Amino acid sequence: MRVRTRVAIIGGLGVCAGQFAPAATFFPPVRRLAEPWVLCRAHTGRPEVALTFDDGPDPDMAPRFLDMLGRTPATFFWLGWRVRAHREIVRAAAAKGHEIACHGDDHRSLARLGPRTTRAGLERARDSIADAAGRAPAFYRPAYGVWNGTAWTMAPRLGMQRTLWCKWAWDWRANITTAHIVDSVLQGATPGAILLLHDAEGAPGAPERTLAALPEILDGLRDRGLRPVTLSQLIAPSARAIA
Ligand SMILES: [Zn+2]
Repeated sequence: MRVRTRVAIIGGLGVCAGQFAPAATFFPPVRRLAEPWVLCRAHTGRPEVALTFDDGPDPDMAPRFLDMLGRTPATFFWLGWRVRAHREIVRAAAAKGHEIACHGDDHRSLARLGPRTTRAGLERARDSIADAAGRAPAFYRPAYGVWNGTAWTMAPRLGMQRTLWCKWAWDWRANITTAHIVDSVLQGATPGAILLLHDAEGAPGAPERTLAALPEILDGLRDRGLRPVTLSQLIAPSARAIA
């Protein structure tokens, strides 16, 4: 094999590894190792957690989640195409003090997308959210929690912190009960926790079960002395609590 061919093959493999190696953060042990580069929990001395909801806004479910949350602030990782279709919901959520973060433009896995498509989707989603919410998203969590190299490098350049979670409740699945969702979330509810739930998509009836779990989750957090805050509040320096 010619040297030039070998160099080309090795270079190609390197590009592939660079593009797809970040997908490994989907797995919890890798996620813990990646924590310096991906926000999975906040290291805060304050008794706070962040409730985060992925995949909306759905025109039926999102208003029901907003009603159920009441004055409790949450962070919604919403999809660009849905944000463009339901700007009034995004505006209402932001006006209530919720944080709108970015979950990409559609829900295709980044593992299947090349650099150009990834970049275009990320920029379009970021711009759509900034336009509808009146504030650019500060956090990005990819669909399925799976990264590629382009999103890994582009997200911070677009002003969005790479974000995953430290506890999820499998709430998008068909065979998960409301009680299981409550238990899973509360098991992971320690100071600084980023808790992942879904306000749309999933198996039939899944968002309804998550919605039904919400009052018990909020009660359980209160019983544990934990205050739900937005992600920006969660990672804010401690001076905020003193000020
Ligand atoms: Zn998702």
